[in-house]
Amino acid sequence: MMLHLKSVKINCRTSGNVLPGGPLVGGRIGSDGVEVDGNIPIKRYYRSGLEMVRMAAVYLAEGNVESAYILYMKFITLFVEKIKGHPEFKAVPADLKQQNVKKLKEVFPVAEKLKERLLEKFRREYQQFLEAKRKAEREREEKRLREERERAKAGTIVTPTPAKIPEPSAPPSSMLVDSGMLDRVLYPNDFPSDPSRSAAGLLLPDAKPAFDRTLKPSPTSVLAAGTLRSVTVPTNTMAKFLQLAARNTAANVETCGILAGKLAQNKLVITHVIVPKQKGTADSCTTMCEEDIFNYQDQQNLITLGWIHTHPSQTAFLSSVDLHTHCSYQMMLEEAIAIVCSPKYQETGFFCLTPSYGLDYISQCRQSGFHPHPKDPPLFMEALHITLEDKVSIEVVDLR
Ligand SMILES: [Zn+2]
Ligand SMILES: [Zn+2]
Repeated sequence: MMLHLKSVKINCRTSGNVLPGGPLVGGRIGSDGVEVDGNIPIKRYYRSGLEMVRMAAVYLAEGNVESAYILYMKFITLFVEKIKGHPEFKAVPADLKQQNVKKLKEVFPVAEKLKERLLEKFRREYQQFLEAKRKAEREREEKRLREERERAKAGTIVTPTPAKIPEPSAPPSSMLVDSGMLDRVLYPNDFPSDPSRSAAGLLLPDAKPAFDRTLKPSPTSVLAAGTLRSVTVPTNTMAKFLQLAARNTAANVETCGILAGKLAQNKLVITHVIVPKQKGTADSCTTMCEEDIFNYQDQQNLITLGWIHTHPSQTAFLSSVDLHTHCSYQMMLEEAIAIVCSPKYQETGFFCLTPSYGLDYISQCRQSGFHPHPKDPPLFMEALHITLEDKVSIEVVDLR
């Protein structure tokens, strides 16, 4: 079957049924920090937290210390501080909280070691910068003296001209990382005490219990705002998913699946489509038994990279309900994509919310079900950060 890439303008449905996953307000886990949105189910944050740690471990294994550190700090910020502001916090099951505390205990010492390594690196680079600066000043002074001597020899008195020795080049970009950020380390004042740790002072030199609410990576850091990692989509993803959806499609019922995969060399690669138990209609699809998806992802160490669904009788676009569904994916991972397959029109759309407008707009829209949104500026766009790849094959996991 031929599949065409197509960017489609907004064409929201204005009627239809109501789906769960209501409106979202503010807050996301982005390159610019961590905020918690009370309208996103709290379990999503716990899921996202696990995936953050998973990604951090990959960065660490690959020697990308700064990215690993930033992710670990996001995890710590989220679960030591921010999550408590979520209205469902008190209702979080004890086992989930316990699992999370266990993760925090693993993450703290690792983050602390990385902090030391980064501080050492910044210090070293700063010393090199100072050394280069001093050397340039020395050379400038020597040149000035030499010229003065030559002029004196020639017997002429001329106002000395300033020497033109280039300034040392700008310090390395990593030096520009706000190293103060590294010092503003959280103090886990409600963290269960662990006798094996040296009074948590390991993490906080001046042992003052305080949270930094402004903790965020510097814009010059490796995870700079606006730089999306690329998402690799195996070319056979759509065909395989459509095969699996064929029976629903014939009955004019939507099918949906989760796109999951891995991080490698700062790229996200979709490796699996997980099709959960679900209920579909002609223009909607609701997942059920999400625990099954999570269990599978945990077994395979997979990160959630987006979702895929069919439009059995419509073109490929994101409906208003789709926009809201996608919003919670993109809030957890900026690079999350939505793939829409329209077998009837032989179209495939690879979409995301416009990061500068659609994401905020939808997160603040409080309507649910199908409802109109203004069409300009656009709320979603063709995802430009995807790469189709023939050489990798998708694995389809049907949990229905
Ligand atoms: Zn749809
Ligand atoms: Zn809306």
